Amino acid sequence: MRIRSELIIFFLVISVLPLSAVVYISYNYSEGAIRDSVRATLSGATENTGNAIENWMDARKDDIRVISQLNVAVESPKEQFKDYIKIFENEHQGVYREFYMLDPSGNITFSDIDRTGNEGQKSYFQEALRGNIYVSDVSLSNISDTPEIIITGPVRKNGETVGVLAARVSLENLYRIIEKIDIGKSGEVFIVNQDGDIIFHKNRSRILQENINNNFAVKEVTYEKNGINEYVNYKGQKVLGSYYWLPLYRWGLIVEKNIDEAYVGVLILGKVMVAISLFAVMGVVFFAVVISGNITRPIKSLEEGSMGLLRGNFKPIPVTSVNEIGRLTELFNSMAGELLEIRKKLEAKIELANKDLEEKNKELTCANEELKKLDELKSDFLSLVSHELKTPLSSMKISAEHLESEENIDNATRKELLSIIIRNIDRQTRLINDILDLSKIEAGKTELHLENVSIREIADASFENIKQIANKKNISIILDIPNDLSSVMADREKLIIVLNNLFENALKFTSGGGSIILSAAEDSNSIEVSMKDTGIGMEKEKLEKIFDKFYQVDSSSRRKTGGCGLGLSISSGIIRAHDSVINVESEPGKGSTFSFKLKKG
Ligand code: ADP
Repeated sequence: MRIRSELIIFFLVISVLPLSAVVYISYNYSEGAIRDSVRATLSGATENTGNAIENWMDARKDDIRVISQLNVAVESPKEQFKDYIKIFENEHQGVYREFYMLDPSGNITFSDIDRTGNEGQKSYFQEALRGNIYVSDVSLSNISDTPEIIITGPVRKNGETVGVLAARVSLENLYRIIEKIDIGKSGEVFIVNQDGDIIFHKNRSRILQENINNNFAVKEVTYEKNGINEYVNYKGQKVLGSYYWLPLYRWGLIVEKNIDEAYVGVLILGKVMVAISLFAVMGVVFFAVVISGNITRPIKSLEEGSMGLLRGNFKPIPVTSVNEIGRLTELFNSMAGELLEIRKKLEAKIELANKDLEEKNKELTCANEELKKLDELKSDFLSLVSHELKTPLSSMKISAEHLESEENIDNATRKELLSIIIRNIDRQTRLINDILDLSKIEAGKTELHLENVSIREIADASFENIKQIANKKNISIILDIPNDLSSVMADREKLIIVLNNLFENALKFTSGGGSIILSAAEDSNSIEVSMKDTGIGMEKEKLEKIFDKFYQVDSSSRRKTGGCGLGLSISSGIIRAHDSVINVESEPGKGSTFSFKLKKG
C-alpha cells in the first residue's frame, strides 16, 4: 500500500475514532438532556394549566361567596339584585349563564333569566344549604346542551342560612385557558372526571359522550397520581403523556404529545450530530489528504530522483521544506551528484579499458594470424628444406655411386661427376647459409660492422659475382654510379649480399637481350640505390608479399629459376637493420625497380 494511503488511513483512524466517541457520548448526553427537558416542559405546562384551572375555579367560587354575602342579594328587592347580577355577568363576559336563588326548600325564588322550579334534591343545593361552597359535576346544559357546572353557596341572614345562591357557569372560558397548552400538531389535551369520562376536549361533541378510562394516563390520574410517561394511548399511538390530578374537583388533566413530535429535538440533534460528524470526517479527510500530500510529495520526488539516478538522467530534486525531509533531499542531491561523478569516471575508465581490450584483442588476433602464418611457414619451410636438401643429395648420391661402381672411369667423366657433387654441396651450403642468415636477422642478432662504404666499390664486387651469368644470358648490366658519390655508413659484406640478391633476381626474371641498371644518387643526407630491370615484372597486389619468407610469385619458378624465396627476406632484413626499407615498383611485362636509401657516411 502506498504511504499516502497509509497516512490517510492513519489520520482517519486517529481522528475518526475519538471523534465518533465524542459524538456518541455527546449525542447520548444531549439526547437524555433533551428528553428530560421535553418531559420537564410538558409536565410543567400541565401543572401550570392545572393551577390555572384551580385559580379560575377559585375565582368562580369567590364570586359566589362574595355575592351571597352582599346586602343586595339578601335585603334588596329582586329587581335591584337582578340589575346587579346583569352588570356582574356583563363584567364576566360569557362565564355566567344564570344566577339564581333557592329557598331552603329548594324552590327557585330568583332567576336572572326568570326560571322557576325546584332543585331541592340536587346535591349542590343540599351541600350549600349545609353551609358549603359547592361545585357540581360537569353536565350538559338543559338549555344550550353545552358543558357547564353549577356552583352554589349559602345565603345567610343574621347568622342563619336563609337560602342558596347558585350560578350556572359556562366552561368555555376555562376551556380556552386549557387550550393554550402547546400540544403540537398531533397532541391532545383532555380532562376526565374520576370515572374516566371526558369533561374537556377540543372537540366539544366528545364531552360527556366518551369514557377513556382504558387510557394509561387516565388510569393513573384517576388513582389521583401526577406524572409523565411514555405509553400507547387509547388511540393506539405512542405518546408522551403528562397527567395532573385536581383533587378539589376530582378532575384529571391529561396532556398527550405524539412521541416523535415531542422528541423532535432528539431527531434534530441526531441529524445535527450526523451533519457535524460528516463535516468533521470531510475535514479530517481533507486535512489528511493535504498533510499526507505534503509529506509524501518530497518522498515521491526522492523516488523519482532515485529512478532518474538509476536511468542516468538525474536532475536535482527541488528542496521544498526545511524539515528532516528537506535535509534528506539536500543530502540525496549531493550524494547523487557524487555518485554521478563516480559513475562518469568509472564509465570513462571502462571505456578506456574496453578500448585497451579491443586493442589487445586485435593484437591477439594479429598474433594468432601471425602464429598461423608461422605455422604454415614452418610446414612450407620443412617441405621446402627437405626438398631442397633431398634433390642435391640424390644427384650427389647418383654421381658418387657412379664413381664407386665404375673402376675404369676416364678422367673427364670423373671430373664431371665430382664437379656435380661439389656444385650440389655448394648449393646446399648456400641454402643453409641463407637460412642461418635469415634466422639471425629475424632474431635481431645480425651484427652490423658499420664503416664508410663506397657504393661504387660494392657494386663492382657484386657485378664481379654475376657478370658471367649476365654474359651467358646476354643481359647487359649498366652501373650508373657517379665517381664522386659520397660513401655510406653500412656493413660492406651485408650490403654485397643485398646487391647480389637483387642482381640474381633481376637476372633470373629478365630474359636475354634485357638490361639491368644499377644506379645511385645522393641528396643531402642519404644515397639512394636502385636496381631497374626490364624483366617480367609483377602484379601490384603481389608486391607487398615478395619480402615474406619463402614467397615466390610463381611457385613453379623454383624449378625453373632456382631459389627458394629467401633472397628478398634476407635483403629487406639487412636494409631494415640499417634503419631503412627496400621499396619496389613493378608492372607485369615492364620490369621492376628495387630501391633503398642509406645514410651518408
Ligand atoms: P627467389 O629465391 O625465388 O628469387 P626472392 O625472395 O629473392 O626469392 O624473391 C621472391 C620472389 O619475388 C621471386 O620468386 C619472384 O617471384 C619475385 N621477384 C623478385 N625479384 C624480381 C624481379 N626483379 N623481377 C620479377 N620478379 C621478381
